[in-house]
Parts: sequence; C-alpha cells; structure tokens
Amino acid sequence: MTQDSYDPENIFARILRGDIPCDKIYEDEYALAFHDVNPQAPTHALVIPKGQYISAQDFSAAASDAEIAGLIRAVGHVARELGLADPGFRILANHGTDAGQEVPHFHIHIFGGGPLGPMLLTD
Ligand code: AMP
Repeated sequence: MTQDSYDPENIFARILRGDIPCDKIYEDEYALAFHDVNPQAPTHALVIPKGQYISAQDFSAAASDAEIAGLIRAVGHVARELGLADPGFRILANHGTDAGQEVPHFHIHIFGGGPLGPMLLTD
C-alpha cells in the first residue's frame, strides 16, 4: 500500500464521518480510538488522528505539532483507560507495502491483555 493522495472513502474516514459504526473507546479533538474488528491480542485497539493522513510518513511530515501531541496523548489515555498501563502493552504502526498496511488512514495499534510474545514473528 503506497499512494500519493488521501482516499476519503477508506474505512477509517468513513468511521470518522459516522457513516459506519465503531466500538468506540475514546474521542477528543485530535483522535478517535476504537476496538479492532479483527483482534490480534486479547485487547487490540486502534487510535487514529482526525486529520486526513495516509500513513506514519505522511503524519510525521504534515501534521501539526498539536495533532502529533494530541494523537500520542490519546494513545496514553486509551492504554490507561483499558487498564494496560501497569501490565504493559505494545504500540505499532504499519507504513506502506512491506509493513502490510491495509487501511490508508494513519493508525496506531495498541496490543495488550496478556503476554505478547516476541516483537516480530519470524518464521
Ligand atoms: P493495518 O494492517 O496496520 O492497516 O491495520 C488495519 C487494521 O484495521 C486491521 O487490524 C483491521 O482488523 C482493522 N480494521 C479494518 N476495518 C475495521 C473496522 N471497520 N473497524 C475496526 N477495525 C478495522
């Protein structure tokens, strides 16, 4: 997945518009967080910026300092709200083809709820 312009019909854009529902955890002026529909850990949340950013690269280059701070603070808030701060959790963002990014709206995964195993799966 590598593209130049933001696709306003991507699934997370549609969630942000309220066109389709999500299992919401948290929302503020910068971010929306919801449970992943196909969880890869006992707890698997997604935190997305409200602005139209395709990926980690796009977000880091084009988002304002307030948007970047807002998203990272939202990640911390969600982890605390889900009770993950003490036992621990993992955050991850896929960018582009090699990482297997599926949805072209920047998102941070939060995994937790039990031991998560090695950082990367290697066959
Ligand atoms: P990535 O591969 O990093 O782009 O991750 C995309 C994630 O979005 C996957 O973990 C999907 O399970 C998740 N996902 C796709 N559609 C939805 C949806 N409608 N609601 C919640 N999570 C979704």
